[in-house]
Amino acid sequence: MFDALVVNKDEDGKTSAAVTQLGLDDLPQGDVVVQVEYSTVNYKDGLCIGPGGGLVRNYPHVPGIDFAGTVESSDDDRYKPGDKVVLTGWRVGEAHWGGYAQKARVKADWLVPLPKGLDTRQAMAVGTAGFTAMLAVMALEDHGIKKGPVLVTGAAGGVGSVATAILANLGHQVAGVTGRPETADYLKSLGATQIVAREEINETVKRPLEGETWGGCVDAVGGAMLARVLGQMEYGASVAAVGLAGGAALPATVIPFLLRGVNLLGIDSVMQPYDNRVRAWSRIASDLPMDKLDAMVQPATLSDLPKLGADILNGQVKGRVVVDVN
Ligand code: NDP
Repeated sequence: MFDALVVNKDEDGKTSAAVTQLGLDDLPQGDVVVQVEYSTVNYKDGLCIGPGGGLVRNYPHVPGIDFAGTVESSDDDRYKPGDKVVLTGWRVGEAHWGGYAQKARVKADWLVPLPKGLDTRQAMAVGTAGFTAMLAVMALEDHGIKKGPVLVTGAAGGVGSVATAILANLGHQVAGVTGRPETADYLKSLGATQIVAREEINETVKRPLEGETWGGCVDAVGGAMLARVLGQMEYGASVAAVGLAGGAALPATVIPFLLRGVNLLGIDSVMQPYDNRVRAWSRIASDLPMDKLDAMVQPATLSDLPKLGADILNGQVKGRVVVDVN
């Protein structure tokens, strides 16, 4: 028997989450059983621990959209007992049972070998948020980062914190947008050189073009902020659209695309092809300073998750939560 955070739904449609004992036979089908060591808390986890946000198909459900651990048994030639692995995406923790359990059974296709230079705890300090931040930085690089500072929105959140640390370590000036002024010292410790108050940049776009300010942008917020940022990009610069913490609408004009050649790059971590996953994890191991990563981490256990799930939906989690499931 092993522990898992199980979410149940009652007849009135109300969900509740509690740590419960499960057996191997309870786990869904798959080729590889993993002894989970660490998981984490992402925005989507907040939805799946709570009412589901339309992501969870069936109850009872074990959330946790990412995990890292050791292979216990495998029916697939690519993995053998003792291998260290990491999993993000593929709708694990949403449509499939996820990482908030001491064991998980998944498809071998969904796993990535733990990259050299990272342990399982560090891999989950990075987690889906950090992995996605790396994908965003890689997309900006592929399109060319311009001279000006790179803007990171939702900077004190998970995606934003990791993006800030990676970009600064790569030698870019980083401007972090935050709604929490008290996180300024934290963001500077990650390498941000400029702090931009959320309200300064959060108004609906007034003029389609403003001064050419940012050489690139990792955007975790979307909505009115993204619309405004598009008009502030340098000629030919790119915005990597990662998240919607501030809203899914995009009240913008096409003028920045037409007159400034601005690129809006969509970033999806869930269905990302295997080779690019391996490339991103390897870049994380080489380009994210581990002391900066440590500074982002707050530790948690399975029983802390119901509260943390609510906190992340309220924008109250700073940096990255690492859940020790054992
Ligand atoms: P976090 O909650 O850790 O970070 C989001 C941050 O956005 C907050 O910390 C806050 O930063 C800021 N924020 C929150 N609410 C608002 C608001 N109303 N207006 C403006 N800013 C706001 O979440 P994650 O970093 O884990 O994820 C960020 C986003 O990226 C989410 O929308 C998530 O769903 C998405 N995502 C997408 C992925 C993909 O594959 N495309 C993968 C992973 C995440 P501050 O306090 O500094 O202002």
